[in-house]
Amino acid sequence: MKVYIETKRLILRPLTPEDAEAAFRWCSDPDVNTYLYYPLYHQVEDVRTWLESRNPDDPDVYDEGIVLKETGELIGSGGLSFHPERNAWEIGYNLRADQWGHGYTVEMLNALMDHIRKIRPLEAIDGIFASENYKSQRVMEKLGMIYVAETKFSKLDGSRTFHALYYRRNFLQPSKRCSICAQIHRIRRKDNPYFVWELETGYVVLGDHQRFEGYTVFICKEHATKMNQLSAYARMAFLKDMTITAEVVQRAFHPDDLDCELISAEKSRHMHWHLFPKHNGDTPRSGPAWLAEDLNDDRYIPTPQKLEELKQALITQFKQIR
Ligand SMILES: [Zn+2]
Repeated sequence: MKVYIETKRLILRPLTPEDAEAAFRWCSDPDVNTYLYYPLYHQVEDVRTWLESRNPDDPDVYDEGIVLKETGELIGSGGLSFHPERNAWEIGYNLRADQWGHGYTVEMLNALMDHIRKIRPLEAIDGIFASENYKSQRVMEKLGMIYVAETKFSKLDGSRTFHALYYRRNFLQPSKRCSICAQIHRIRRKDNPYFVWELETGYVVLGDHQRFEGYTVFICKEHATKMNQLSAYARMAFLKDMTITAEVVQRAFHPDDLDCELISAEKSRHMHWHLFPKHNGDTPRSGPAWLAEDLNDDRYIPTPQKLEELKQALITQFKQIR
């Protein structure tokens, strides 16, 4: 499909036969080609023929030109193509070798996924890459994909066969049976008064009962009840987001102590951190916040005015810390 999307550093736009010379720079580079299905191109004319043969209106294929905003140069192409038999979108990309290592591929794919989601469901993404191609593994991990299986693939001309890894990410589909999905759905509709802030891997909300003023919950976006269900990248990002949240709660409410607990009960489906800001003497005895018997007493449900005040205290700190 034809798109025109601007991201922070890139423009994604349709490729045309006029791009043949620019595309030849990566299509003819053996380093770029090493792990691709497609053969190396030796003539600009062959690249032009390939560009002319593409159908830019195929609704199942988003294969776009990647332009660097800063210089206006076309530096690569890539995107996602839908595979109905797997109900998943497979990712693919090739980038000029002098542009590797800047995160452009991840930026491009995230923008395209956001675009596709506005038009149709995007339930999963798949990627298959040669196991020795650690750069692609990094891309998959940054996209939150996790290892599924070992496999292999051959170049189209049969010249090489690679031992390969198959990675996948299943996206959260709102589930009627999941109360946290319902909460997230309301956050996305801007209809959740407890919502405070969105981080890369989760949402920050205020707790329903404010027995400990400033009690905050950080909820994982994914259906994951254990850390090992997240990709290596997402795991570290989730922990980093939690420490940011803890720091924000600390700065906003200046507690003497901050209880942080990761709850990963199977039935909640989204693991989440509880952060209780505690002050000396606010419980009859020391120990975890859970020991306070009146933790969920209705008199601790905040008034709309109080809720707003607590939210603003956190938002002010989130804006400063990032
Ligand atoms: Zn859910």
